[in-house]
Amino acid sequence: MPLKTEYKLPQGHELRIEVKEDKELLVTAKQGQAEVFGTELSLGEQLTLRGQKLAVFTWHGVVLELTADAECLEDVTDVVYEADETPMVEYLNASNVVEQRRRAAREAGGQGPRTIVVGPTDVGKSSLCKLLLNYAVRYGFAPTAVDLDIGQGGIAAPGSIAATPVEAPVDVEEGLPVEVPLVYFYSHVSPADNPELYKFLVERLAALLDRRAEANAEVRAAGMVINTMGWVDGLGYELLLHSIAALRADVVLVVGQDRLYSQLSSELRARKDVSLVRLPKSGGVVMRPPPLRKLARAARVKEYFYGAHGELSPHSRTLGFSELRVYRVGGGPRAPTSALPIGAEPVADPLRVAPVTSPGELLHSLLAVSHAPAPEFLLSVNVAGFIYVSDVDVTRNTVTFLSPSPGPLPGKFLLAGSVKLFME
Ligand code: ADP
Repeated sequence: MPLKTEYKLPQGHELRIEVKEDKELLVTAKQGQAEVFGTELSLGEQLTLRGQKLAVFTWHGVVLELTADAECLEDVTDVVYEADETPMVEYLNASNVVEQRRRAAREAGGQGPRTIVVGPTDVGKSSLCKLLLNYAVRYGFAPTAVDLDIGQGGIAAPGSIAATPVEAPVDVEEGLPVEVPLVYFYSHVSPADNPELYKFLVERLAALLDRRAEANAEVRAAGMVINTMGWVDGLGYELLLHSIAALRADVVLVVGQDRLYSQLSSELRARKDVSLVRLPKSGGVVMRPPPLRKLARAARVKEYFYGAHGELSPHSRTLGFSELRVYRVGGGPRAPTSALPIGAEPVADPLRVAPVTSPGELLHSLLAVSHAPAPEFLLSVNVAGFIYVSDVDVTRNTVTFLSPSPGPLPGKFLLAGSVKLFME
């Protein structure tokens, strides 16, 4: 490790670091206090960053040591710079307001705050969600993280919406906990592909979370922190309103867009039970143009199978296509022509589940393994995990796929969609 350099940050400053895609940088807090999106760094503990873009913030001042197997920092990072202007005080204030509600809910045995973070892409929504979750954990709560951003798949794989309890600080290297997530596979990366299905699944997830909250006072009081997609215009805005209603969010944090804030404030004016708060975007948030998002998606799927540090070894298997029962949602006719009024065109039923009949279309697809006991439950039952179709032999009618574990798949039925990626 020839490179070693130190940064002394005064209170309220942050060090913004963008590690190059395939490079590694080690960060250690030597003295003082520091955190990454609310996760405290223990003094002396080495944080390994691979391709990550983040900020190490300090409330009280810190000495950070950066080490890398490189000649100079530029070899492993795109940028490293100190910033003194951050929205952390505003974020902390928002967190404190939510925290008071949690405590009141715990006292009264009632429902804690359901906080939803909304705003365009690349304004730091996911990072703010982590911060809110981490601060709640510090105060002894285990809130539920809900991720409705199907494009990135912060909890499960891209193409899905998911929820998970957060009982410990979010791991800076690994992200949100993935051990016991509740996952629904929407099967596309844009809600525009099948908005009816998106709404249906958000409602399913909401109903299940309601049941969990009803059954457990602590889960209820801790509430939720809901991350959303960055599509805030037209249909995207409608879906956002739908999510707010379906999950009964009562704290709406709008990051980085005044127009969305003013739209939502007129929309929610009559709702005295909903607090709408405008928060600034951090100047450190890194923009990710669409090709980079696509790469990030593939990286996320790779992480699902291989682990954040390549510590998992997925299993590759080949089965006859007829042994796999693969279904797809949407596309089929809503009703037989005979049942329609004369002259009416049959419309595709967005919630129709139909079997996939040819294996060719599955190449490079991510398939969800469903817990459903029969195909008619494929939509309403959550998924157990995912497999990735790495090869299809159309002459022999076989499908080769990667699965996170050996042995039989955890469910009989598979769900396909349009999530395709290339993993070498
Ligand atoms: P969104 O969810 O709104 O798309 P993210 O929270 O994912 O935005 O942020 C986009 C990227 O910017 C992520 O890689 C994140 O780690 C990074 N990032 C966020 N805040 C900062 C910051 N203050 N300094 C450096 N990088 C940041």
